[in-house]
Amino acid sequence: MSVDPPFGGQDGHRPTRDGALYADGRNAIRPRAERVEHGAEIRGERTIRVDACVVGTGAGGAPVAKELAEGGMSVAMLEEGERFTTDDFNARPRDMLARLYRDAGQVATLGNVPVIMPLGRSVAGSTLINSGTCFRTPDPVLEMWGERFGLDDMGPAELDPFFRRVERIQNVVQVPPEYAGRNALVVKRGADALGWSGDFIYRNVRGCVGSGICTFGCPTSAKQHVGLTYVPLAWDAGATTYTGCRARRIEVDGGRVRAVEATTAGGGRLRVECDLAVVACGAIGTPLLLQAQRLGGESGELGRNLSIHPATGVRADFDEEIDMAKGVPQSYFIDEFADEGIMFEGAAGPPDYSAMSLPFSGDRHRELMLRWVNQSQFGVMVSDLSRGSVRRRGSLVQIRYDLNREDTATFKRAIELLCELYWAAGARAVYPPIAGLPELRDGELTRVREHDLRPGELTLLAFHPLGTARADARAGSGVVDGNLKVRGTENLYLADGSVVPSSIGVNPQITIMALATRLAFHLLGAAAPHDEPEPEAMARPRITRPHALSA
Ligand SMILES: Cc1cc2nc3c(=O)[nH]c(=O)nc-3n(C[C@H](O)[C@H](O)[C@H](O)COP(=O)(O)OP(=O)(O)OC[C@H]3O[C@@H](n4cnc5c(N)ncnc54)[C@H](O)[C@@H]3O)c2cc1C
Ligand code: SF4
Repeated sequence: MSVDPPFGGQDGHRPTRDGALYADGRNAIRPRAERVEHGAEIRGERTIRVDACVVGTGAGGAPVAKELAEGGMSVAMLEEGERFTTDDFNARPRDMLARLYRDAGQVATLGNVPVIMPLGRSVAGSTLINSGTCFRTPDPVLEMWGERFGLDDMGPAELDPFFRRVERIQNVVQVPPEYAGRNALVVKRGADALGWSGDFIYRNVRGCVGSGICTFGCPTSAKQHVGLTYVPLAWDAGATTYTGCRARRIEVDGGRVRAVEATTAGGGRLRVECDLAVVACGAIGTPLLLQAQRLGGESGELGRNLSIHPATGVRADFDEEIDMAKGVPQSYFIDEFADEGIMFEGAAGPPDYSAMSLPFSGDRHRELMLRWVNQSQFGVMVSDLSRGSVRRRGSLVQIRYDLNREDTATFKRAIELLCELYWAAGARAVYPPIAGLPELRDGELTRVREHDLRPGELTLLAFHPLGTARADARAGSGVVDGNLKVRGTENLYLADGSVVPSSIGVNPQITIMALATRLAFHLLGAAAPHDEPEPEAMARPRITRPHALSA
């Protein structure tokens, strides 16, 4: 296949061999049939009977459904949201937020700083709207889980075959420089000048053309959300997806799940009788479902221990043209400060999204938007020591999270470092995300350094909620045991971000998929897939010790 990168030649980069792999979409997974039942068409009562009922079709639910179905089980996948394809995407963030995101992307925490927490709500869950960044769980974090939570069976060697299987199915490939976009290359220039470690990100794609809109529906189906990989593979193995079906009740008798009941978009009721139930509604949805059924409460930890990997971004203005709408939005990372809990990752995107988040109004907002093609933006995520909680109060979901003193100090250091990087890259103005300090000129860092930062002055988002039903192999601790079984039940398991016991310092989708795959192999009584190919290379951030030990 000939490679015709839209941004070839930027900063002297020539198309690479990996560019060919990255841009080749010919090995996309194509199911023999789409086995989808629409909840909107289920208006009365319907009962089905399967071996396994999987609730939620995101990073955790889809892999477990596919593996169980391939292992010979009959599987029903319940999903509250709908199924979307490229026909539903128009590359306009305002429309796509309303269509693809839970509550139009406005889920937020309560606490000493409001944190916007975007979540998916469709077949593929949050993977439909994520950036496609792939990191394995850092080894020191897995080793810490062994020491702190007794999860010795989740060490780097034990999880390696499952990581390899996920990386093969998801087609994890490194972004070639010619697709990275000028935003990443400008930041790389700054990092190189300062001698900071970083690299182009590994992503799950097949046929990416660098169209710059990953989080609002990939227009080419290049980004391998699980609705393009695991869900079709599950269909081919006989599983059926029920869209528009919200699980509301788990019927348990003597510790055994007998059935899962869902209300349907058509106003009906679907009853799934099963021998086994796997809940994978995400770190916010799973504790809410379990709390409503009074399940998983033995350790008193359900809904607690929420880590969110809070994020913010610094903007900068350059004399040169950058055009953040071109290239892969999240294509470069800097791990120089990963041991301090600081990961810098790209955060580019289209202009209307920037317009919504610029910290200015009126004429100043207009002036900056007129210079949008000259602007760069880069993100920082902090591996948090703060912990929050999730629970329902009446009809409202309350996500409580206070950013503690240590994490606030880490943000201050990270923002100062990113400002320093932008000066090293040649910026003419830098905009830190701190209320009251909106604009810096002439290489200034002192005002950031001397600022007594309070959490409420930060503009924060969080894309990685984890830990609200954390795994712990020690007796009496954790909502699930080391095999992800809900304590106090015999056949109810969890397979999503809720079981991840600590902040992991990197983007979590590969961690969640690997743990879900391991769970399915355990349920099937199958040996780990040691014959999976070893990837030629894999992004391994320079994390030598875990920053975030759980409180
Ligand atoms: C904008 C954005 C960008 C991101 N970028 C990255 C990235 O680049 N790399 C990375 O590793 N991670 C990224 N993430 C995070 C990653 O996508 C999530 O960590 C991961 O998808 C979580 O998997 P999960 O299975 O826990 O939940 P989800 O993937 O969110 O799936 C949960 C599913 O359960 C469904 N559900 C909930 N309740 C019910 C119910 N009662 N009945 C039926 N269905 C229900 C939901 O509708 C949803 O589809 C990003 C997230 C966002 C929002
Ligand atoms: S950059 Fe464009 S083509 Fe590539 S994964 Fe993102 S949205 Fe899809």
